[in-house]
Amino acid sequence: MRLASAIGAGWRTLRGRASAATLARVVSDNFAGMVVVESGGVIVAASRIASDLLNGGRPLDGHGIRQALPPDMRHAIEQVLAGAVASTELALAVIRRGEGEDDRLVLQYAVTASEVDSGRIACLNFWDVTERRRAEERLSFLASHDPLTGALSRTGLCAAINQRFETERGRGEGLAVLAIDLARFKPVNDALGHAHGDMLLKQVVGRLRATGAAYVARLGGHGFAVAHPGLDGGEAIQFCELIQDRLTLPYQLGPHRAIIGAEVGISHSGVSGFDPDRLLSHADMALSIAREGAGRGHASFSPEMDAGLRARQELETAMQQAMERGEISLMFQPQASLDDGTVIGVEALMRWVHPELGSVSPERFIPVAEETGKIVELGRWILEAACREVAGWPGHLKLSVNVSPIQFELVDVVGEVKEALTRSGLPAHRLDVEITEGIFMSNARAVTDALQRLRNLGVGIALDDFGTGYSSLSYIGRLPIDKIKIDQSFVKRLPGDQQAGVIVRAVMMLSEALDKIVIAEGIETADQAWMLKMMGCKVGQGYHFGRPKTAAEMRAMLAEKSATDRIAG
Ligand code: C2E
Ligand code: MG
Ligand code: MG
Repeated sequence: MRLASAIGAGWRTLRGRASAATLARVVSDNFAGMVVVESGGVIVAASRIASDLLNGGRPLDGHGIRQALPPDMRHAIEQVLAGAVASTELALAVIRRGEGEDDRLVLQYAVTASEVDSGRIACLNFWDVTERRRAEERLSFLASHDPLTGALSRTGLCAAINQRFETERGRGEGLAVLAIDLARFKPVNDALGHAHGDMLLKQVVGRLRATGAAYVARLGGHGFAVAHPGLDGGEAIQFCELIQDRLTLPYQLGPHRAIIGAEVGISHSGVSGFDPDRLLSHADMALSIAREGAGRGHASFSPEMDAGLRARQELETAMQQAMERGEISLMFQPQASLDDGTVIGVEALMRWVHPELGSVSPERFIPVAEETGKIVELGRWILEAACREVAGWPGHLKLSVNVSPIQFELVDVVGEVKEALTRSGLPAHRLDVEITEGIFMSNARAVTDALQRLRNLGVGIALDDFGTGYSSLSYIGRLPIDKIKIDQSFVKRLPGDQQAGVIVRAVMMLSEALDKIVIAEGIETADQAWMLKMMGCKVGQGYHFGRPKTAAEMRAMLAEKSATDRIAG
């Protein structure tokens, strides 16, 4: 603005002294774009730069502003000539010379008035700000977009959602938000390299856009989100299934083919309201439920989910201190010979009693401990404490300790077992490590190797909860395990349920062929114990033989037993 009026003032002082030709020359040589227009709307002088930018290098002098200038500039000049204003505010004019990004010219301009003998004249001053503008746009694009895929960023998506809800219509239509996580992206990325990983991410965005989704965003890593207006709950699920179908088709990545999975959490403004952060966090909550569930890999947010997750968070916080406060303790449940009912060993089980929450089931807190990594500390503690205790019991009694897959992933379980054995003095052959099938999901080779090294120490390996997971009978033979624990869900259905009977019998036959010992879990009645014994099962565990007990209770039970044995003997 200051420059514009300075030029205007200069014009006024020059007016008296110099000839029109001199003035025209001054204008022509000006580094800025400059166009002088007389009161009738005819251009009387223009800088070379003005001719270059506005007229392809041809002179502008003598042309009427109607033909020669873009409409915005023309209006500004007309306003000034009409005396409506002495000068205009700085404004932007965009001139397109073609369709491409490079064919766009952005000019910043202002118009000032000067009074001369012949009347009022207008002086248009402008500068080419195309480059600066492009840089600004690039910056704001980067702030609102993912540079790799060109999809919206989280910020960009939130801004777009906000904008949508600014209008009555936008709020009326509502919005479904889908948080999408690519499953098994990491192995593809690791195996094929980052260049192919990037290629896959770009193709994912392409496929998401092809569904017609109104907004497509990449939230980071292999997390994406899509938002679409006007879908009710059922339609949002259909849309979600369409997205899953598309994303799970094979990808061609250069010479490679890859297949990935897609899990989706859905939220809706009808339930979660109009705040984009809330919509996204609710979609995320639903996503974490979808990941856990065995369903089709999608879940819709519901308010109960929020409450459930909040309770889980509270549990997580409470867990942080559980160990220091001594709230975690150890119980032992007897394992008995099905032949004569004598106790041959125990399984160590963890207990947590929180001062306010009361006793929390391991089924609830172990998964939380696994997710937070707390299981490492807990697992180490129970292994040490149980070995120390059982080392003082009669030598024929064995100890079984549960070890979580996460422990295998995070720490050197073999080293920890060795240390616990050394410190407690418990001989290796008296210890069994109980694992679940989940352990073979992540790094099967490393796990198999660790199990083999445990066996080399003399420690036994028991496969827990058999029948609840993948239970592929074919691989049991190849795994380094010594015992199979039939899950209590089958035992519970005995003796009435025929199908359960068939399964148990099949497991018995297979185990015999593979030379594995079978332990039946959850035996609650004498009938069940008898039936399992008839099927050839040798070892049982369950309330029928004894509930989990404290170490002191267990010692008392063992003492009583040996006293009766002595009397009987
Ligand atoms: P699990 O290893 O299969 O342990 C057996 C579970 O069945 C125990 O539940 C036990 O109390 C219960 N049970 C035993 N006999 C019967 C019966 O006759 N009827 C019924 N209804 N239940 C019976 P608990 O102690 O609640 O533990 C649940 C699960 O939590 C365990 O299943 C195990 O997977 C996990 N867990 C417990 N302690 C630990 C631990 O120290 N480390 C790890 N990683 N997991 C543990
Ligand atoms: Mg167990
Ligand atoms: Mg079990």
